[in-house]
Amino acid sequence: MTTLHDKFGRRIEYVRLSVTDQCDLRCVYCMPMGFHDFEEPEHWLSFEEIERVMRAFGALGVHRLRVTGGEPLVRRNLPELVSRLSGLPGIDDISLSTNATRLRKHAHELREAGVARINVSLDSLRPEVFKAITHGKLEKVLDGLMAAKEVGFAPIKINMVVMKGVNEGEVEDMVRFCLEHGFTLRFIETMPMGDTGRDAVDHYVDLRDVRARLESRFELLPGVMPGGGPARYMKVAGTDLNIGFITPISQHFCETCNRVRLSVDGTIYTCLGQEHNLPLRPLLRAGCRDEELTRAILEAIDLKPERHEFREKPEKILRFMSMTGG
Ligand code: SF4
Repeated sequence: MTTLHDKFGRRIEYVRLSVTDQCDLRCVYCMPMGFHDFEEPEHWLSFEEIERVMRAFGALGVHRLRVTGGEPLVRRNLPELVSRLSGLPGIDDISLSTNATRLRKHAHELREAGVARINVSLDSLRPEVFKAITHGKLEKVLDGLMAAKEVGFAPIKINMVVMKGVNEGEVEDMVRFCLEHGFTLRFIETMPMGDTGRDAVDHYVDLRDVRARLESRFELLPGVMPGGGPARYMKVAGTDLNIGFITPISQHFCETCNRVRLSVDGTIYTCLGQEHNLPLRPLLRAGCRDEELTRAILEAIDLKPERHEFREKPEKILRFMSMTGG
């Protein structure tokens, strides 16, 4: 079996595929209100081009694929793309990251097309706090989550970005919500991605403190969850609830990094926290042969840096989280 490794010996088995940089929400740590400088649609990779690139990655040993955005469900006919990708040799795990505002409409089709599991961003259970963070409606997201349960996505993971003075007080409520619905919960630290991300870092919460707080309320045991992401899981004793801690700032996980990102315009970003990238679109639109595409992917993997510098150089990353899909 072919496997892909970077120059630090890390196996790259996972691609986060951003199918749009657009979104119907405006989360304070991601996309600024009034932002309109989106990628031109003619620069978006077509479904054929995405399928071709992911086929090349599959042949190199990548088997995990996460569909992200912006908000992926704003891209039309997404289930058709998922069907194409779920038939690719080597790709055996397709998941989706969404804000769930449109999940009620698309959940069944996406499940049928091949999405096995989903992550939903949910930073608050209080409508006014949710609105203050996302400029959106909580009830739409909760309805989307119920639709996801109905069609049988498993697991359903909740991503909560914990922010001091914003939603930090809701950590226990979110634990109870996930216990009640059988969701997996993940807490995420804010990251200095773009100006919005840097502003959010003013509300930074070290998740070691959140874990200590939860350990004073619940018995937490080491936990394990399927998936290729960076979360460190704990299990609440006597329950099925797994709680994940995603700690890029307090305890980074770069030494075990297994992923790269493909942005909507066909650029391979080798690291969320660095600018090392390689655009594939010019090559694809110049009619490159498969070997040339494979060579370009290998070249990109060779560019992959050892780690982020969020602490050392928080001003470094200009792009917002939505541009490469977190
Ligand atoms: S910051 Fe970069 S190297 Fe570290 S885990 Fe994320 S993508 Fe991997």
